[in-house]
Amino acid sequence: MIIIKTPEEIEIMREGCKNLATVLYKVKEKVAVGVSTKDLDIYAEKIIREMGDVPAFLNYRPEGASTPFPATLCVSVNDEVVHGIPSKTRILKEGDIISLDLGTKHHGMFTDMAITVPVGKTSEKNLKLLEVTEKSLQVGIDAAVAGNRVGDIGYAIEKFVRSQEKGQKYGIVEVLAGHGVGKAIHEDPFVPNFGKKGTGAKLVPGMIIAIEPMLNLGTKNVTIDDDDWTFRTADRKPSAHFEKTILITEGDPEILTKV
Ligand code: MG
Repeated sequence: MIIIKTPEEIEIMREGCKNLATVLYKVKEKVAVGVSTKDLDIYAEKIIREMGDVPAFLNYRPEGASTPFPATLCVSVNDEVVHGIPSKTRILKEGDIISLDLGTKHHGMFTDMAITVPVGKTSEKNLKLLEVTEKSLQVGIDAAVAGNRVGDIGYAIEKFVRSQEKGQKYGIVEVLAGHGVGKAIHEDPFVPNFGKKGTGAKLVPGMIIAIEPMLNLGTKNVTIDDDDWTFRTADRKPSAHFEKTILITEGDPEILTKV
């Protein structure tokens, strides 16, 4: 069931998402060679709690998961697509690319956002992957207007990604997708990063969704590690992920996760 948010809930989401973006950009500043992924997680939790908010992923156990997620921040390095678990022994190296995915609860409402950043200097191929993934998110957001359907978002993302394939093909991850967000971390509708125009649920003002393309330098296929959380590209090539929480309005979509 798709939940249309009330004006009061939207105002809380605006505040919470602004806080979230503030935290995530602060965590981004800490990304450097020699830092452990656990260091980033500890820092993220500290500043979320200082703002009076609550980490949403910590101990989150979606239906079907064998264990709750054990951290605040999902940290996915290189071939890890999403849901990487922070670790004291995972030390960032020059040239890595690292996805930081974070969710919070603010006055009872959930928020969600992700960015992928390079550690020091990385390859041209990786930089291009980051650029195309981030731009594809904006293209998806641009398609998220009232009257359009969920399939129009995925269609726009896929079309854009294919237009960028000059000498480099990109795998668009299909088993993971964006989603409604607000009353829960994951709500309807499911928002795939590929699709057909004019299909799926209709977008109406008051809907809040997270759009989150995940692009790989190789195959679109992914595997899950023995920890039951970490999604990894099947061919172990790098992957990038960008996500924003947005509000469908009468006019242009409003990006909520911004500072
Ligand atoms: Mg999400």
